[in-house]
Amino acid sequence: MSQNSNFTESEINMINSKSPKTPFRVLQVTNLQDSILLRTKSENLVFESGNRNLANLIDRMIATVQDSATTGVGIAAPQIGILKNIIIVQRFDKPEKPFEAYINPKIIKYSEMKQDCREGCLSVPNKMDTLSTRSYAILIAYETQYRQNQIEMVEGFTAVIFQHEIDHLNGVIFTDYIKP
Ligand SMILES: [Zn+2]
Repeated sequence: MSQNSNFTESEINMINSKSPKTPFRVLQVTNLQDSILLRTKSENLVFESGNRNLANLIDRMIATVQDSATTGVGIAAPQIGILKNIIIVQRFDKPEKPFEAYINPKIIKYSEMKQDCREGCLSVPNKMDTLSTRSYAILIAYETQYRQNQIEMVEGFTAVIFQHEIDHLNGVIFTDYIKP
């Protein structure tokens, strides 16, 4: 079971240190200090009303994934140093392909059918590889940023993004699946 917690004082300071349009620095596996955070399990977020901390974090995470020269399709909060279960996923399965936020996401069912998919990661410089371990379809449970509980079936490339980003919440990096 995940721990539950609010944002810490230092997380709140970090979120609000710059405008909501300002990207965060993305942590890199090649940096020892960064890699310790990238390998730490994140906690569930407890919603707090009366402030814009979550909304500002989501805006800045979207600015971060869109800012990247490597054309990111998703990002997880630990990649910017916030150890909370929050991810941004580009929904290639929706018209306009929007970037959306998912709070406390969990995969509750995996299809046995797998898919091959070429992956890269904003935290892993200059490396792409094709994994064949990703499920073709997954059933996910999550909360929206407006506190609605949802259960949804996702498939195809979008399902790969969810699996990759939810792995980050558990300290798992896509290169862990690559056999040496
Ligand atoms: Zn990644």
